[in-house]
Amino acid sequence: MKKTRVRFAPSPTGPLHMGGVRTALYNYLYAKQKGGDFIIRIEDTDSNRFVEGAEQYIIEALNWCGIIADEGIDENGKVVETATEKHPHAPYRQSQRKAIYFKYAKELVDKGFAYYAFDTAEELSAQRAEAEAKKETFIYNSQSRQYLRNSLSLSQEESEKLIAETNNWTIRFKMPENRIVKMDDLIRGHIEVNTNTLDDKVLWKKIDELPTYHLANIVDDHLMEITEVIRGEEWLPSLPLHYLLYEAFGWSDSMPKFAHLSLLLKPDGKGKLSKRDGDKMGFPVFPLKWINSEGEVSRGYREDGYFPEAFVNLLAFLGWNPGNDREMYRLDELISAFSLDRIVKSGARFNPEKASWYNKEYLRLYNSEKLAQLFIPILEENNITVVTDYNTDMTKSGADFEHRTFHIDYVCKVIELIKERASFVKDFWTIAPYLFLAPKSFVEKDVAKFWKEENYKLALDTAKQLANIEDNTSKEDIEKILEEHIRKNEWPMGKVMNCLRLALVGASSGLGIADIISLIGIKEFNNRIDFIQETLNK
Ligand code: GLU
Repeated sequence: MKKTRVRFAPSPTGPLHMGGVRTALYNYLYAKQKGGDFIIRIEDTDSNRFVEGAEQYIIEALNWCGIIADEGIDENGKVVETATEKHPHAPYRQSQRKAIYFKYAKELVDKGFAYYAFDTAEELSAQRAEAEAKKETFIYNSQSRQYLRNSLSLSQEESEKLIAETNNWTIRFKMPENRIVKMDDLIRGHIEVNTNTLDDKVLWKKIDELPTYHLANIVDDHLMEITEVIRGEEWLPSLPLHYLLYEAFGWSDSMPKFAHLSLLLKPDGKGKLSKRDGDKMGFPVFPLKWINSEGEVSRGYREDGYFPEAFVNLLAFLGWNPGNDREMYRLDELISAFSLDRIVKSGARFNPEKASWYNKEYLRLYNSEKLAQLFIPILEENNITVVTDYNTDMTKSGADFEHRTFHIDYVCKVIELIKERASFVKDFWTIAPYLFLAPKSFVEKDVAKFWKEENYKLALDTAKQLANIEDNTSKEDIEKILEEHIRKNEWPMGKVMNCLRLALVGASSGLGIADIISLIGIKEFNNRIDFIQETLNK
């Protein structure tokens, strides 16, 4: 049996959309499950659409996801340009394979499957305009080719002269007339198309001596011994041409099998998830942040704080499912669970809430030490220092509010406490900044509602019960002291607690009072009680 070899063949025309990452992922999973090779090939023959930085972006994005190529990209993340044992088909960038393709285009002309076309761009637009005026569409096909300027309509002499003397001719595929092309797709099943609906596609252009996508794709898939082509549904209309090209070359027996993936749809299911949707609807559609040549920024999953494992997991499930209820699969688990026959034919609706759900689930799986490392840069952005040695100004739990310095163990304790409420590492900061900074002001409406003389007096008295306790008093003991005091005096528990929370948090909502106090320490607790009095009871 032939070794499975699949490829991801992006064109560097911009950042990779998440749909493109999904195509790469499915190819990768398929190859790895079968013990085969996953190849990356850069299809950059359309120089008009080339975008600076796109190739590097694509490689970096796949790397971030853990989608690593067996062939085409070296250990330094560079496209391989010179053949080696591991990368025998180099170069893997089609622009550098330029010299290969003409011979193949010429072979098709010689065999009568293709022809030279000399029509200028102006002539073709005139044809288009004429057809439009008649409310028709111009296509270069078996009918129109008879009156257009090409090697089929002109004499051999004239053609040879034009080939030698002009430089904007092309080689076009001679689409057969009225033939039914019978095709099989691994996802969509059997498909038949009549060639009368198809046009004579350009295969090669003299002007830049480059092949078009169709020719380069077929030639390279053949030379690289690709066994399955798994790609986006937008290429399905090209499949009959590709079948006919394989046939014309005499390669039908070794032709790869094809699988066309359905589109990713907008959250409302109406239409394709486009590159612009993310910015419009407030979620990323790109794996990594991208800044275009105009300086416009598009957000990325990585920069938005998604874990690559979560991103990969959610992508895998957009259009595929394992056939059971389990939703959490890491990359290696996806490799064993994946199968093309569980790919859905209809479009997969993207649900941004599900995306953050995945991140939340992964966050819960990680230990606090790992999460703390990821949280440190966010703390640093807020001018907070994290240290691994205890200093003399620290409470037992590792907090030094005055110097905005915290021990890593303190950061871990904070994470333990708030992990269940967070979906992203950055949420640790937004959920409880007051575990690192004393409130500087108090939410006005909460003050109006809770900081009433009859209540705060009770709260201040209750606070005094803790004034001299040890820093390592447990949360349970703190809770007991507070509650017993309030209960004993038959004071309203909620009202008193809300005043204390206002002092600790600056607002009436937040974590449990005893949780906060046991973390920040008694000194900081007393400071906050003093500060709220100074501020509100002037
Ligand atoms: N270069 C094409 C693209 O970027 C690849 C299509 C294919 O996989 O055949 O979509």
